Amino acid sequence: MSYEYIKFGKEEREFREKIEEISGENVFSCYQCGKCSAGCMFSDKMDRTVNQQIHRIQMGQKEKVLAANTHWICASCLTCSVRCPRDIDVAAIMEAIREYILREEPEKIIVSELPKEVLERLPNIALVGNFRKMTG
Ligand code: SF4
Ligand code: SF4
Repeated sequence: MSYEYIKFGKEEREFREKIEEISGENVFSCYQCGKCSAGCMFSDKMDRTVNQQIHRIQMGQKEKVLAANTHWICASCLTCSVRCPRDIDVAAIMEAIREYILREEPEKIIVSELPKEVLERLPNIALVGNFRKMTG
């Protein structure tokens, strides 16, 4: 699909460009074949599949992208990145969404203040992403 004739607003464009900058990927390379989501062992736990998230990023739909649980469920196993026929590092895009959120809201997760019962239920990657915000 060609996006050449779609006019994006400033905010939509900025969001997409930021995710591309952090991930180092061109989201418009994605042609929505769905192979990434088909191979993801956590797709059934995600409220939006990874290819749906990529499509939303293409369209600059920041609020919808950030509202999904997809990037927090992602375990960075890289299966999607290996399967992508367009050589898109899909896992890096999921990481970029996490980084985007944690850069905008550095206090979103303060590990030392999390109750033990929450720590036991929290996806590991949420904790890993939290520590990366301090190094990236
Ligand atoms: S496998 Fe690659 S091209 Fe296919 S939907 Fe996923 S990111 Fe897009
Ligand atoms: S890296 Fe994340 S999105 Fe990709 S297959 Fe693994 S868990 Fe799913």
